[in-house]
Amino acid sequence: QNTFDILIIGAGPIGLACGLEARQAGYSYLIVEKGCLVNSLYKYPLNMTFFSTADRLEIGGIPFASIQPKPNRPEALEYYRRVTDSQKLNVNLFEEVVALTSAGERYQVTTSKATYLARHVIIAIGFYDVPNLLNIPGEDLPKVRHYYFDPHFYYKQKIVVIGANNSAADVALETFRKGAEVTMIIREAELGRIKYWTKPDLENRIAEGSIKAYFQSHLTQIREREVEVQTPTGKITLANDYVLAMTGYQPQFGLLQNFGITLSPDFKRHPYYHPETMETNLRNVFLAGVICGGMDTHIWFIENSREHAVKIIRHIQGQKQEV
Ligand code: FAD
Repeated sequence: QNTFDILIIGAGPIGLACGLEARQAGYSYLIVEKGCLVNSLYKYPLNMTFFSTADRLEIGGIPFASIQPKPNRPEALEYYRRVTDSQKLNVNLFEEVVALTSAGERYQVTTSKATYLARHVIIAIGFYDVPNLLNIPGEDLPKVRHYYFDPHFYYKQKIVVIGANNSAADVALETFRKGAEVTMIIREAELGRIKYWTKPDLENRIAEGSIKAYFQSHLTQIREREVEVQTPTGKITLANDYVLAMTGYQPQFGLLQNFGITLSPDFKRHPYYHPETMETNLRNVFLAGVICGGMDTHIWFIENSREHAVKIIRHIQGQKQEV
């Protein structure tokens, strides 16, 4: 049967949280995920540790047991997998939602494998699919990476890390400690949003010169064996094997617009939703999770967006009582 009360797009932590609330409230629901379960977390760096403590990553009130206060990637994958299993969540994996259209009182959701009808749709697609590009010559070379996985690969390599926030800091420190020759290229005059326990480490490595950093600088060109950097004192050329562009990611705005979701006209492109109900400009279509921030991808995370699931299902229940 391909008709549901609620169809949830995305099986990230927040899509799963929506599934748990829907199940708890007795609705028929389906979560459709284009990749593997918690696909974004799966693509995180192999050795990453969450900045949140385990209790703040919990969904549906199900305890997340972790020996260290802050869990790592495999523990989080284990947790969300176990929650999905134990609660028998209805999830279809490796099935991409490509279209959402109105069909009378319902919506038709078209995926890479099937077509569904649902009275309510929750969009929880995150922001980890589209990297912010540098838009410079050479960016399409295979040595340029927008996702970082493992430091070992970069042993004895000359790497440039672009960016000044958490991801750039983690990549610079981790690859430096595994034998890479690291240069950071930072557009701003100082380091950005970095975990308070990581920042002094990076500052000290930069101060002692073991990690080089060019501030108020940006790459202008990437070539096979070198990069060109515009610094405050002029253009320089650095020998280079790999460029790790840790310049952040952005939501799939094109997909949201195709669905019919209104975006703010400024460059932040905040998708429209009502803060109490999470309902978008489309009746019975909701947003949940980090997608809500538009280009402000740092304002929502798991601990402050898991409540979106509760708000949405409460609103749907309220509607039913009104009828
Ligand atoms: P996501 O986890 O991104 O889930 C969205 C899902 O939708 C994905 O699985 C994606 O594959 C799927 N999808 C997208 N498009 C489609 C489509 N068309 N059809 C079907 N499925 C689709 N947050 C914290 O709270 N604490 C932390 O410590 C923390 N650490 C982080 C570390 C890193 C390196 C990064 C990048 C982020 C971190 N975050 C952290 C932020 C965290 O990623 C998000 O809070 C969390 O993933 C948001 O969950 P979500 O369900 O909203 O989005």
